[in-house]
Amino acid sequence: MKQSMSFIPTLREVPADAEIKSHQLLLRAGFIRQNASGVYSFLPLGKRVLQKIEAIIREEMERAGAVELLMPALQQAELWQESGRWYSYGPELMRLKDRHDRDFALGATHEEVITALVRDEIKSYKRLPLILYQIQTKFRDEKRPRFGLLRGREFVMKDAYSFHTSQESLDEVYNKMYEAYANVFRRCGLNFRAVIADSGAMGGKDTHEFMVLSDVGEDTIAYSDASDYAANIEMAPVIVTYERSDEPYEPLVKVHTPEQKSIEEVSSFLNVPKEKCIKSLLFKVDGRFVLVLVRGDHEVNEVKVKNLLEATIVELATPEETKKLMKCEVGSLGPIGVPEEVTVIADHAVKAIANGVCGANEEHYHYTGVNADRDFSVQQYADLRFIQEGDPSPDGKGTIRFARGIEVGHVFKLGTRYSETMNAMYLDENGRMQPMIMGCYGIGVSRTLAAIAEQYNDEHGLVWPVAVAPFHIHLISVNPKIDDQRQLADDLYEKLQKEGFEVLYDDRAERPGVKFADSDLIGLPVRVTVGKRASEGIVEIKIRRTGETEEVHVSQLTETLRRYLS
Ligand code: ATP
Ligand code: MG
Repeated sequence: MKQSMSFIPTLREVPADAEIKSHQLLLRAGFIRQNASGVYSFLPLGKRVLQKIEAIIREEMERAGAVELLMPALQQAELWQESGRWYSYGPELMRLKDRHDRDFALGATHEEVITALVRDEIKSYKRLPLILYQIQTKFRDEKRPRFGLLRGREFVMKDAYSFHTSQESLDEVYNKMYEAYANVFRRCGLNFRAVIADSGAMGGKDTHEFMVLSDVGEDTIAYSDASDYAANIEMAPVIVTYERSDEPYEPLVKVHTPEQKSIEEVSSFLNVPKEKCIKSLLFKVDGRFVLVLVRGDHEVNEVKVKNLLEATIVELATPEETKKLMKCEVGSLGPIGVPEEVTVIADHAVKAIANGVCGANEEHYHYTGVNADRDFSVQQYADLRFIQEGDPSPDGKGTIRFARGIEVGHVFKLGTRYSETMNAMYLDENGRMQPMIMGCYGIGVSRTLAAIAEQYNDEHGLVWPVAVAPFHIHLISVNPKIDDQRQLADDLYEKLQKEGFEVLYDDRAERPGVKFADSDLIGLPVRVTVGKRASEGIVEIKIRRTGETEEVHVSQLTETLRRYLS
């Protein structure tokens, strides 16, 4: 592509509202432009990277036995009502009405549409398993769209869905998709990890997320320093066992703790370590109240609470609800003397606290000398806290470390969550009706693009890996006004393209400094500069990643380029 005819609006200044490298550089190098919050245009270079990633995904999907189709973004509300998600998906689902006042949604995901489609066409076990996928624009009215393409409100997703007659068949395809995902992200050059995840609002059990390791990631990964164990911290079980020390039992005493609310305040006011404090949080779990206890130096993991209680919605009780029920404010909560209707559950560590401290359910008062089971009762002890760095790895090998990750892909075993609510049945070998067993598999295509940009850049700009670079070669004529230079550059442009290279040709009448700076910013793997020695047939090659340069005679050029690009 000739740069003079393309549309690559580069910027020298860092755009003020772009906080992270990938967002800044994709804007500055002219790959994307923002239209509205979380809504972007892909300019020609951005579009080409997107196509490269999509091509890799298509190859890996086909290899895994998936077949491409394209479903509508505009979806009738009835389908979402059938699955129940019209009511449970919340404000992220973009809803609209047509001219007849009928409700529609813009597809945030396509379980409903595909389940209805397959339900209506497939009746027999003989047609299963079936794996279908699409690459399409999704809409989610995210609360906090940010970081450019990383969290958009309109974004490109690859979503695949599989339909099965048995759990074994689902397991087999799940493993294939898992492999395909690993291949996709490896081919994109990403440093990533597959981690055990929570199935969230999707329903279903077995699930993994593919996380690109990056400090700007919104997820925290707990991984072992000695094995390949890795999980979203939401999911990592804590395998520590706790023993109460043989400290003699002290009497329970109510003490005055004026204005001391947080664990930090109480522990320093009473001069007891945080490990001796009991942190009590009141949650509303599907409408009923649950007091959750953890040790003062631990944090409650709401996903574990949700899974233990097999709940759908877990949220902190509001200060008003707390006041009404417990007759005190949040900072004074404790497990002693709670009303009947409140369930008390506790993390294992709480049982082992000897002579601890907890809120007295009375403002400005705490108890000391608190011992579980003597002073208060707990309906259930369970693993309810977040894993911490330094905890033993759940697989028994090594110690847990944390890393930040960007979720680029997610594979789920859905089971019959959708086929049952939406009546997607087939006739089995014995002529009996059975619900289809399903899996679903998503890749954030535009997010992957940003994740690559986040991992591949330096102080001069982007540094694309060959597999996803918008072009392989940036061909630059230093001064196109000089005939030799222009002529050689024109010839090379034709020749290299004929040989199968993808070439961006900077034929603009710009100063060399501008061209080089733009070239570094755009970050194609190899630059070929036609300059002073054009008349001798000599050009300069520069490798963007390493900065190494080499003068090459045009007769050797193809071979040299092949070597660098392979
Ligand atoms: P997140 O936790 O980041 O919101 P999610 O769990 O809601 O993601 P899924 O429903 O699993 O995401 O969607 C599949 C993939 O789509 C994700 O793995 C992610 O790569 C991508 N994705 C999800 N939301 C966005 C978004 N707002 N912008 C860009 N990509 C997204
Ligand atoms: Mg989301």
